[in-house]
Parts: sequence; structure tokens; C-alpha cells
Amino acid sequence: TQKLTMDSTSPLSISNLHIVCIPFLAPGHILPMVDMAKLLARHKVKVTIITTPLNAIQFKTNINREIESGSPIQLLEVKFPNEEAGIPMGCETLETLPSMDLKGNFLIAVNLLQKAIEEVFEKLEPFPTCLIADKHIPSLADTAIKFRIPRIIFDGTNCLNLFCNYSIHSSRVSENLNYSDQFVIPGLPRQITMKKSQLPMIFRPGPNELLNRLRQRIHDSEDEAYGIVVNSFQELEDGYVEEYQRVTGRKVWCVGPVSLSNKDDIEKSQRGGRNLTIDANEYVSWLDSWPRESVIYVCLGSLNRVTPKQWIEIGLGLEATNKPFIWVVRESYKWDEVEKWLLEDGFEERVKGRGVLVRGWAPQVLILSHRSIGAFLTHCGWNSTLEAICAGVPLVTFPMFSDQFYNEKLVVQVIETGVRLGVENAVNFGDEDEFGDGVQVSREKVKEAIEMVIGEGEGKNERRERAKKYADMGKKATEEGGSSYLNMLKLIEDIMHFKSNV
Ligand code: UDP
Repeated sequence: TQKLTMDSTSPLSISNLHIVCIPFLAPGHILPMVDMAKLLARHKVKVTIITTPLNAIQFKTNINREIESGSPIQLLEVKFPNEEAGIPMGCETLETLPSMDLKGNFLIAVNLLQKAIEEVFEKLEPFPTCLIADKHIPSLADTAIKFRIPRIIFDGTNCLNLFCNYSIHSSRVSENLNYSDQFVIPGLPRQITMKKSQLPMIFRPGPNELLNRLRQRIHDSEDEAYGIVVNSFQELEDGYVEEYQRVTGRKVWCVGPVSLSNKDDIEKSQRGGRNLTIDANEYVSWLDSWPRESVIYVCLGSLNRVTPKQWIEIGLGLEATNKPFIWVVRESYKWDEVEKWLLEDGFEERVKGRGVLVRGWAPQVLILSHRSIGAFLTHCGWNSTLEAICAGVPLVTFPMFSDQFYNEKLVVQVIETGVRLGVENAVNFGDEDEFGDGVQVSREKVKEAIEMVIGEGEGKNERRERAKKYADMGKKATEEGGSSYLNMLKLIEDIMHFKSNV
């Protein structure tokens, strides 16, 4: 394990810092890391992002804009090890895997990037002074040790999550429980109960030994890191940042919401850069035609995985609300069945005019920032959750797996800007077939929850007020002098003063 100390006589200054950022290869990880890298480079720190060609395409335009405006940022590519890991050519990101049985191979492939990344490192000028790597690439812990530079983890979640995972792990509170048992997460300032069936997979190891081992390795490599950069802001976390730091002794820098680095409509619509099926301006003009806070936006993340039956329930629930909506129905698991329903049942025809179906990638940050959006039905991925929070939009929550049940707790119980759909159990991606009749949330529930938020629901105005309050706090946090702005400066300063005593 690397032991790190501060050295006040460090010879480094901002101009000879060079930070290398390496995201995990999935949109929910790449997008926030690119936003964070942009923010670092706007402080005139040299930043290099290393990724694979098909991932680089997605945000090249965005980075070129930064370069044109004078930021010292560059994007370098390394080949994705398709053959070595048994992943089909043309597939370099998690959500494009042809089968979720390849999840383990994919994790291995991403960790195999280590060798190619080290070759790039050797040629970088000035030599990298710090590595910020996604926590899902634990092989890079060895890279940092080899080059005697600090490795900082970019953890795509928030401090409530980090704290809950730490607490459940160290107390072993969930170990002898049945999946349906409720328990209180120890040590939280505000009581939060969970069911074991809602916890991340590290607490519910499945039959795939390879995946279990990889998850454990990711977990263990956290201990070796110099610290953690978190896409959140202190004011949102209700003391969890300090509490997590106190119990773990780890350095944490909350520098978010990083999506706010995308300022104008062009930057917002180019974020993620995928080919939009319709021009982003068309969404804006359509949204312009609706009253303030009247439209529902529905998107279940980049993986977009629910059963066809569940999609249909969501569709029928939306239809029953009689309200305008934008629904991202990008192709995913067993999509033929959904497409058939969309066309043959006449759904599209019935909702014409008031319902927009997005059959590709949606410019989410742009859509959420429009004044007509009144509610966001989300899978509670942390990026989506935070993007809604900083747009001041109340949420309707449909968590699925990973950290998403914690995120639901944060918005429903802690900041109280969300309404639950009532999902009881996590269904890990790839395991959809194992889930009962394939429906977790009925159309009635969908309609009811949406109406709580933008219909005549009790407490609707207070919820919206709170949502606006947090949006305002998030914005202030990232402005000059705000908590996240200062944490970013602190991060840079800590990197300058890092000294390895390996
Ligand atoms: N996203 C988007 N358009 C889409 C789907 C997703 O821009 O059609 C973005 C979204 O804004 C967010 C990220 O992709 O930044 C998804 O990350 P999140 O953590 O919400 O969920 P994940 O996809 O990782 O489950």
C-alpha cells in the first residue's frame, strides 16, 4: 500500500502540473469525468483524458471547444482490447455489449487497458503528476505506484452512498439477513432503512465468481487511493461528507455538480455527443410550446434496461396522466417486443402531439434545464439525479440497481424533492429475466406518482420550492467562492503538495 505525505517544499506549481483522467467506459462514468476534466483545465491545469477511439468520438467536439477557448486539455486514444477479452469488434462501451453475459469480460477488458495507458504515460510531456481514474479500473492502482504519482479515485456517486457502503461493510449488518429483511444503516445522522435486496451487488454476491472477485478488487483498491473526487456538493450532503471523512480518514473533494460546466445550449446538447436523432433545437421549440413546469421527462439512463412489460406499464401510466411528456425509448433489452407494442397497440398515434418518443440519445441536460419540464421519472443513476437536482426539477423515482436505491433515499427522505414509485427490489442489469412477471411498477403507480408532482398532489408546491432551493445551492457551490469551486482549488493544491514515500 502506498503511504502518502504532504510536502510543503513541493517544487510543483500549477503550470507544471499534469493530470491524467481515465474514465470507465460507460456514459454514466465518461460524461461526468469529462465535465470534471474541463473544470480542472479551466483552472489552467494541463489535463489529458485517455480513452478508446469509439468513446473518444462521443466527446471530441466538446473537448475541441475547450481547446479553442484556451484550456490546456487534450484527448488521447488507446486501442480497446477486443480480441484479448473476447468482446466483439465495434463494441467499446458497457451499454453496447451484445449480451450482458459479457459483463465480466468487459470489466477485464477495461482493466487490460493498463498496459497501453502506461505506454502513453511514458511519452507524455510534462510527465503526469497525478492520475484521476474511475474506481472501476483498479489495475491503475499499480500504474500509480509504478510511476510514483498519486491515484485519485473518481467515484461516480455521492458521499451518502460512500458512507452507507462503508457503514454496511464495516458493521457487517446485512450479512446474515434474508433479502427481504429491512435494516437500519448504522451511524447515519438521519435514520435510513434499506432492504438487503436493494443493496449494491458487493453485499449480495451472485453465482458469477469472476464478477464477485472483480467487485472485491475494486472495493479493496479504494483503500490504496490518495483520495476521492466526488460529483456532488457539500450543501446537498447534509453532513455525510464530513462523516465519511471522519470514519474513513480519507480525503474527499466534492467538486460538483460538474454538469453545470456546460453553460450554453450548444454545449449542453453536445454533451455526450452521440448522434441525436432529431436536432436539439426541435426539442427546445417543442418544449417552448408548453406552459412552465408542465412536461414530464422520462429516461432510465444509458443502459435503459427494464422488461418489455415494464416499459408498457410506464407508457400506459404516462398516457393516463393526460400530460405532455418526452420519453426516451432507446433500443435495449428485448426491444422488438416494445417496438411492436409501440406501433401495433397504437400508443404513438394516441399520444401524438403531447408525447415525444426519443428513439436515440436525448440531450438530457438541455431538456432538464428547460422551464417547461415539471417532473423527471428517473432510474436514479447519480448523474441523472444530480442533473435534476441542479435543474430544480422534482423527481419520480424508479431505482434499479447499484447505488440507485441510496440515491432514491437521498431525494425522497433527505432533501424531499422526489416521490417514490415504490420499487422494492434491485434487478441487476443482465438479470431482468430472473425477475418474476417482469413488472415492478404498475401503470396506476406511475400515474399516481406523476400527479403527486405535477398534478394536484399534496405538498407539490413545497416540494418544488425545495427543488429550487437545492438548484440554487448547487449553482452557488460551483461559482467562484462556492464550496465546490474551493474544493477544486483544494484538490489542485493537494496534488501540488503530494509526495510519495514509497
Ligand atoms: N444521458 C443522456 N441522454 C440519454 C441518456 C443518458 O444525456 O438519452 C446522460 C445523462 O444526462 C447522464 C448519463 O447519461 O449524465 C447517465 O448517467 P446516470 O448516472 O444517470 O445513469 P447510468 O446511465 O450510468 O445508469
